Amino acid sequence: SRAWHLVARPHGWPADADFELREVPLAAPAEGHILVKNLHYSVDPYMRGRMNDVKSYVPPFQLDQPLDGGAVGEVVASNDPGFAVGDHVLHGLGWRDYADVPAKHAKKVDGSIAPLSAYLGVLGMPGLTAYAGLLEVASFKEGDAVFVSGAAGAVGSQVGQIARIKGASRVIGSAGSDDKVKLLTEEYGFDAAFNYKKGPVAEQLKEAAPEGIDVYFDNVGGDHLEAAISRLNLHGRVTVCGMIAGYNDTEPTPGPRNMVMIIGKRLRLQGMIVTDHQALQPKFVQDVASWIASGELKYRETFVDGIENGVDAFLGVLRGDNTGKMVVNPTR
Ligand code: NDP
Repeated sequence: SRAWHLVARPHGWPADADFELREVPLAAPAEGHILVKNLHYSVDPYMRGRMNDVKSYVPPFQLDQPLDGGAVGEVVASNDPGFAVGDHVLHGLGWRDYADVPAKHAKKVDGSIAPLSAYLGVLGMPGLTAYAGLLEVASFKEGDAVFVSGAAGAVGSQVGQIARIKGASRVIGSAGSDDKVKLLTEEYGFDAAFNYKKGPVAEQLKEAAPEGIDVYFDNVGGDHLEAAISRLNLHGRVTVCGMIAGYNDTEPTPGPRNMVMIIGKRLRLQGMIVTDHQALQPKFVQDVASWIASGELKYRETFVDGIENGVDAFLGVLRGDNTGKMVVNPTR
């Protein structure tokens, strides 16, 4: 079998030479283990942070070791009474075609409720991030005007649609291409959207939100955050979910220049980590599955076939090649 290894710590944008696809011997699973053929694995922005040797909320990837992350696959051999050959499981050993998984770290998933890839996206970690980040962290309430950046991505597209479903007065999104902007307004029901590459975010946001915003869901940071602070209404709330604009920076970038507004407007800026919100998981799955079934919530996925293309798929997320969740199909 094959697995992607991190062989050097990237400086700035990761380079191909930082990764190596290496052969890994496959053995029959030991007691309490299952052998899984990975059908899909996730590449996520947070993985860029794990490539740096710094202390964070998840430990860094180790050099000369396989990378890991969310994956869904089919059990092909089992040495655990809880799993049978043919079962589909969600587990944490992505970035490889076959995975030897301790059974206690695998969770059965049902491919008849949703396509298996959905457990990495709309019904998985990014979905819960959107759900918890909007409803819990931002204390969203009916009538709020919501702005979300990264709005055509996995988390952002779900934030905007949940806000619409829950009765937002206005939903505004920003994304990095005209096609993505069109998707937001024409398919996802956003009231307004703009391409942040086409002009200053502050000006475009002002035009899209003439009456201001009450919630900003930040996936991007930088000039997006500064623009949002200027547009936020009294008692506005910000979910600080991600700052992807800076993930490949080699120097810390200056923060928003208008932080003083936080005082007068009594703003609340709250960071979040999705794993703190596990208690919402059952309610999240119930709500989102029913919104998908009723057609109220739509989602896209971008698939990259072949394990050899796994690093490029990851870089693609940082570049914005994806619409919706980026998923690698390592064994296709
Ligand atoms: P996405 O599917 O949104 O993919 C990332 C997107 O970011 C790209 O498609 C690209 O879209 C956009 N992007 C890249 N560079 C820039 C830039 N310089 N300025 C603006 N947009 C940029 O990824 P996810 O949905 O998985 O994650 C979204 C955010 O949420 C990330 O910041 C991530 O780190 C964060 N996150 C945080 C979690 C938490 O617990 N705090 C959990 C999960 C995700 P475009 O074409 O529009 O530029």
